[in-house]
Amino acid sequence: MSAWGPEGHAIAARIAVREMSARARAKVEDLLAADRDLLTAHDIASAASWADVWRDAGGDLDASGRHRTAPWHYLNLELRRPDFSWACWRRQPLPAGVPAAQGPWHDCIVDKIEQFETELAAPGTAASERLLALKFLLHLVADLHQPLHAADDHDHGGNDLRVRLPDGTVESLHRAWDSAFVQALGHDPQVVAQALQQSITDTQRRAWRRGTPEDWAWESWRIAKAQAYGRLPPCAPGVCRLDARYVENARRVVAQQLQKSGVRLAWLLDRALGDER
Ligand SMILES: [Zn+2]
Repeated sequence: MSAWGPEGHAIAARIAVREMSARARAKVEDLLAADRDLLTAHDIASAASWADVWRDAGGDLDASGRHRTAPWHYLNLELRRPDFSWACWRRQPLPAGVPAAQGPWHDCIVDKIEQFETELAAPGTAASERLLALKFLLHLVADLHQPLHAADDHDHGGNDLRVRLPDGTVESLHRAWDSAFVQALGHDPQVVAQALQQSITDTQRRAWRRGTPEDWAWESWRIAKAQAYGRLPPCAPGVCRLDARYVENARRVVAQQLQKSGVRLAWLLDRALGDER
């Protein structure tokens, strides 16, 4: 499961850049400027996709265990009987002394965000781990806002459900929410991010700058249940034909999830790096 494609991550990160304090932004840029990893460029919008690129760069048999981090990008809350503790592997704490980036595979996105936030804020964190914590946070906060990264209907978060879009494209429901509905917002992530950020009202900003990653996961789950799955038309065996109304609603939901994701990422980075320290 890839979650938002690179466009979605670039849009959410660019919204966050416009939302965060100047001090937090300068610290983020300093941290990324010291990065020696060449998998992604070191601007915030590119670095936001690093966790996907890095995970996939070595393949399934990669000895460094990058594939081990795949479960960190989502949690499978079942639509009918959601069990948060089960979806998060019983929420086991990190083993003592183990950096979050070296943690075991059986962990979920909510706990990883909290672990990396703690590391980013702690003065004693090693520089290499602090950089990894930042790059994971730039990515995972956005992934958590992809509704199908928090919900499952015994179909791997929509990965097993084939849909046909009005333009004839056939792909999984999950991929449609990752990319097709994001691409429908516009071709240039920078332009899309600017328009989305400028249309956030102060009331929305106040409402979104609160809660925990667990709250955001439940919000994504409710959206998946009501919108991504709830508005599906009756499906013929094999493929679900999505009409223009479904797509238009999905595009609107995706736009707002990217806005929330940018506001909350900025809020989190402000707390970890910004004015208070
Ligand atoms: Zn991801």
